[in-house]
Amino acid sequence: MKRVFNFYAGPSTLPVSVLEKIRDEIVEFRGLGLSIIETSHRSSEYEEIHNRAIVDLREIFGIPDGYEVLFLGGGATLQFSMVPLNFLDSSSSCDLVLSGSWAKKAMSDAKKVGKVNVLFDGSAQKFSTLPNPAEIKPSAGSRYVHITSNETIDGLQWQQYPDTGAVPLIVDMSSDILSRPVDVSRFAMIYAGAQKNIGPAGLTLVIIRKDLLERCNPNLTAYLNYKTHATGNSLYNTPPVFSIYAAGLVLQWIKNEGGLPAVTERNRKKASLIYDAIDTSDGFYRCPVDRVYRSMMNVVFRLKTEALEEQFLKIAEAKGMLGLPGHRSVGGCRASLYNALPVEGAQELAQLMKDFAKANG
Ligand code: PMP
Repeated sequence: MKRVFNFYAGPSTLPVSVLEKIRDEIVEFRGLGLSIIETSHRSSEYEEIHNRAIVDLREIFGIPDGYEVLFLGGGATLQFSMVPLNFLDSSSSCDLVLSGSWAKKAMSDAKKVGKVNVLFDGSAQKFSTLPNPAEIKPSAGSRYVHITSNETIDGLQWQQYPDTGAVPLIVDMSSDILSRPVDVSRFAMIYAGAQKNIGPAGLTLVIIRKDLLERCNPNLTAYLNYKTHATGNSLYNTPPVFSIYAAGLVLQWIKNEGGLPAVTERNRKKASLIYDAIDTSDGFYRCPVDRVYRSMMNVVFRLKTEALEEQFLKIAEAKGMLGLPGHRSVGGCRASLYNALPVEGAQELAQLMKDFAKANG
């Protein structure tokens, strides 16, 4: 078997042990005579998998009792619609921190539903910095404040979250959920597409404080209303059963690895290997992001010319390091260092960066 080091931003690398378990179980699931993806989502076997994943997530992430965990479809992108459709209308407003490319998409959808006050706009600095969390104060009458925990394309990550008092704080945590411990009680709602740290694409996670369910727009069609999913234990309609099954295996893997403390420690190590390679390169590599807000998950960097970048990326790929080109909208390079990327992957990339700088500096 030949496994490359996979630096894709999502879908992204999964633990080999999880892939092997899926391979072993996909045709016949634990003596059932059929696959788990062929059985009814109402069967006791599936329900056990579904509920176990929720229990494990609650335990690993420290989700308090006053929150519901929902398994939805539609990606984090559907949440860009569902959040404003549930909590905003044409006569009300919300607040948003325009921190990067993903916040911009969330803003654009929210604006179709109601008024959006931009509390911080990082676009003039090309999304290279974040506001001081203490400066984030909700506007009068705001229904909620929306932030993006980690900007996957721009390589920015909040290190401390704002305190918005009684105004619900809603966070898109797609690209750094389960990468470090978080005080869930600071948020009214957390959402995330699964395809980075949780499992395969197809599943979207929503963690929502129960009182928010009472504020959902009752005129929405069934699927769009969070309350529908909370009432039905995310089984109102057919959930993405394969992704939930696989996410359950990833959650067990996190537990076996020692939980979030162990995962965080490894993530720190990987990120510092790459940032060190940048910082000790005498300007051969450059990270455009304000040092304080550098992302531990998506390290973006540039070389002096696009020709050098192209050459570097070509060599990396030939050496079995895939997914390193930056997002097509910004170019450059990006190393996504999600939970399942082994430390050896970051070591190998850091070494290549040093060797390449030496040969071309
Ligand atoms: N938010 C962030 C921070 C993301 O990184 C992404 C996907 N890369 C999205 C939202 C959109 O997610 P999806 O593709 O699951 O709709």
